[in-house]
Amino acid sequence: MRAFYRGYNAATGRRAQQVRNLHVMREDGNFAGKQGLCGAPGWGVTHSPPVVIDPLPSAPPDGLVWCRSCVGHAAALVGQLNEFARIIAALNDHGDQECAS
Ligand SMILES: [Zn+2]
Repeated sequence: MRAFYRGYNAATGRRAQQVRNLHVMREDGNFAGKQGLCGAPGWGVTHSPPVVIDPLPSAPPDGLVWCRSCVGHAAALVGQLNEFARIIAALNDHGDQECAS
């Protein structure tokens, strides 16, 4: 898997302030390599090519956060969606306990 983010300015080498999401690249279907699993376009516009990170990093670069939608889709692709849900449910239980104490 690969990741990408947009908004990088090739002229200045800086990332636009509003760009925060690191997406997971779609690798199958009509838009393979061209969009995120969430549907975010992964192709560049003038002076703003997408920055591809290959392979998928274990954590997003400074200043970026994982695209929530992409991570959910990616979890399903690698067969871990149920595991993710289990973790979330377990955290939820923990939260309830904290509230009760
Ligand atoms: Zn995304």
